[in-house]
Amino acid sequence: MAFLQLANIKKEYNISRTQTQQVLRNISVEFRQGELVALLGESGSGKSTLINILGGLDTNYTGSIILNGEFLKDFTEKQMDDYRKKRVGMIFQSYNLISNISVIENVKIAMKMSGVDDKLQTERALKLLKVVKMDHAAEKFPNQLSGGQKQRVAIARALANNPDIILADEPTGALDSQSAELVMLILKKIAQSGKLVIVVTHSQKVAESCSRVVSIADGIIAQDIRAGKIDARSRARRAARAGSISTKNIMALAWKNLWRSRQRSLLVSIAMSIGIAAVILILSVSAGITSYVNEVLISGDQSLWLEIENPDGTSFTSSEIKAIKKLDGVSDTSDAAVSKNNVNYTFENISGTLLTLTSAEGTLPAAVAGEQPSEGRIYINETLAEELSGGEDYRSAVIGQPIELSMGEGEGISLVVSGVYEDSSSYSAFACAYAERGVMEELYASIGRTLPSNRLIVVVESAQYLTAVSEDLQTLGYSVSGENSSLVDILTYVDLGTIVLTAVGAISLAVSAIMIFIVLYISVIERTKEIGVMRAIGGSKGNIRRIFLFEAAFLGAISGAIAVVVSLAVAVIVNACTASLGVNIVSYYYGVYYMAGLLLSVVLSVCAGVAPASYAASLDPVESLRRE
Ligand code: ADP
Ligand code: MG
Repeated sequence: MAFLQLANIKKEYNISRTQTQQVLRNISVEFRQGELVALLGESGSGKSTLINILGGLDTNYTGSIILNGEFLKDFTEKQMDDYRKKRVGMIFQSYNLISNISVIENVKIAMKMSGVDDKLQTERALKLLKVVKMDHAAEKFPNQLSGGQKQRVAIARALANNPDIILADEPTGALDSQSAELVMLILKKIAQSGKLVIVVTHSQKVAESCSRVVSIADGIIAQDIRAGKIDARSRARRAARAGSISTKNIMALAWKNLWRSRQRSLLVSIAMSIGIAAVILILSVSAGITSYVNEVLISGDQSLWLEIENPDGTSFTSSEIKAIKKLDGVSDTSDAAVSKNNVNYTFENISGTLLTLTSAEGTLPAAVAGEQPSEGRIYINETLAEELSGGEDYRSAVIGQPIELSMGEGEGISLVVSGVYEDSSSYSAFACAYAERGVMEELYASIGRTLPSNRLIVVVESAQYLTAVSEDLQTLGYSVSGENSSLVDILTYVDLGTIVLTAVGAISLAVSAIMIFIVLYISVIERTKEIGVMRAIGGSKGNIRRIFLFEAAFLGAISGAIAVVVSLAVAVIVNACTASLGVNIVSYYYGVYYMAGLLLSVVLSVCAGVAPASYAASLDPVESLRRE
């Protein structure tokens, strides 16, 4: 059985939609191991076409190729990848070295495709470079080499995975005669080691150094001449190797690619990081302001409340109050007139502001000293009593003493402290007091307002409910007012601002994704030839796709990392500048936003990379190799 058998190979190219050109009409020939075959033929006779078919780069032909009894046509795509990777090595007239990696890296890249471990790669690459007498130039770059030297590196690369077949398409076509001779000598040695070597050539001289000369003309084998005896040694035993390129190697290749265009990669990453940082900051600021509102404006001890009234001025009926108490987030209601409108007090030389002044109606808290208020008197809590007494026993220092209350610019009212009560309310840490409704009416009158007698105080469980409760109450037809309602406005603005800014962030993210898409797409176009080379030395479509996807992922990770650092820096600076507020306006608490930003960045750029990566994977290897 022949080692490699070609039977009735036909190949035609579509020139236009209606026209085809039959290049190979009927190629039938057999090759053995250890042969050094010269493939001759005029320019355009189909030599390269045949080599590409044999190399597994072109599968669009009819007829059979049988390798060791196996039909190539029966191979799955994965087996075909394996075939190109391990069983054939290809050498081209134009060398097709990857120009911005070193000589040794060029040889190693073929082994990377087969998942050879890293140490072994270097060892074996050096050995092969020695075979082609290029070990002295391992660290050089392709553009520092002569044509002959480049071709010898290409041969070393073709041998990297110890293939059984070497296909060389005019390897000496661009070389001077001395370099050509050396290359042929090396190929001869390779054949002698038991491999099948097929060399396409124009040169009679090159053909003469071969053990067999096969000529193509008019799409068929026109001549097949054997010279002398072939020294077919037993096939070198193939070392057991790992099946496919490891993820680690794919990542290494992707990283190397990014590094090669590191300026561009960095610029794209920075541009993308702006969008990501914006999103992180928007979320953190929104969280920070909400917590500022919650923790500082609505100081922990105070309850949240809304003041409502009936638009027609009537009082609340008990059934109305019941319905309001049932609302989600409402913890209590009270129908006393409570003023939170900055009632100021002056006592001797101490002055301050009451947190609440409540009309003395119904049951008041029990007195710890003195008595409950009557006309012209005020009933104060212990906190206020202690403040007014200046550390002395307030029983004697405060009770019965005069105190003046005033509102805003209004005229003051003189009162006498009637007693001190034990304050068990949530306001107990603040200055609070009760006075007769008449006193409160007078205070309101002093600033030209009437005491809101028909008002209901609705106490809300927590800040989150403020907006919802306020809306519910308005739906029920009440008008909502009171100091606390401005917090509702703040929270609404924060929510609104978050939505608007998030939209802006989303747009900048979309722009970043498009940018990543373009950059990867350009990169595919720039590297078309390289992709062809990778395919020729055994890279599968999946390998190519994964390399580009990893590049996208790395770009995303870098921009995510930049975004995290930038937004942390902005957070630290903004928080330092607003330290007087006592709360971090840019919340650090939500580390999850940073994680999310990083993840978003990676996911987004991988998504943007899918199309360019698929495009790269779908490139036709033969076409790609032809690209200059
Ligand atoms: P050789 O290597 O012997 O010079 P080729 O195999 O490159 O010849 O080409 C054989 C013929 O096929 C030529 O006429 C060439 O123009 C044609 N050909 C090669 N590749 C293509 C292609 N991709 N599309 C159309 N025609 C092609
Ligand atoms: Mg050719």
